[in-house]
Amino acid sequence: MKTIRIAIDGPSGAGKSTLARAAAAALGFLYVDTGAIYRTVGLYMRDHGVDPRDGEAVAAALPEVRPELCYDEAGGQRMLLNGEDVSEAIRLPEISRYASAVSALPAVRAYLLELQRELARRNSVVMDGRDIGTVVLPDAEVKIFLTASARVRAERRCRELEERGTPQPFEEVLREIEDRDFQDTHRAAAPLRQAEDAVLLDTSVLDFQESREALLRIVRERTGL
Ligand code: C5P
Repeated sequence: MKTIRIAIDGPSGAGKSTLARAAAAALGFLYVDTGAIYRTVGLYMRDHGVDPRDGEAVAAALPEVRPELCYDEAGGQRMLLNGEDVSEAIRLPEISRYASAVSALPAVRAYLLELQRELARRNSVVMDGRDIGTVVLPDAEVKIFLTASARVRAERRCRELEERGTPQPFEEVLREIEDRDFQDTHRAAAPLRQAEDAVLLDTSVLDFQESREALLRIVRERTGL
């Protein structure tokens, strides 16, 4: 059976995961949140006292890190780390920083590449991340670069953190988003950038429904689905 791959890349807080999940549900595809996999590696390093910027120490620890994806009955992605469900633990703001640091290491990216490709070989997927259209699935049938202004993304993240019961001041969230944007776009290994054949979708002035419609329109135009 031929599988269809939809790659969605973009900076943090652009609404990738919410939109990718909604698109996957509408299309009946598997949703793969690759940020969660990098977060799982970050969590492992935090729990084992490994400095996430120390490339040698992280590379030495990697063989002990076995991330796995599974899906609950509602189709929600769960992350397992060495058999333990860490889906909630990886969402802590501290883990975002660990994830961003470990994801800059080529050894980490190489270690996680096959896991991501294998998922797309077995299933039609909507996969979101930073380098899906450029590195992980360069032959994806549809590539979308999803973005929004830093302020809009910070506002959205603030709302999300509040709903989770872990509110943070706006200025702090904005600074973190700008720091992560800088790190993600300036690293040597698989930096965040729009693939040449990706369609740009800026959701700064779109609400969720409008963004979802715009995204599905792009998918339909490209695949005829
Ligand atoms: O998307 P999310 O914020 O959960 O990703 C956490 C971190 O993982 C990002 O800041 C980014 O540095 C990294 N990441 C990556 N490549 C991906 C997905 C995430 O480098 N495909």
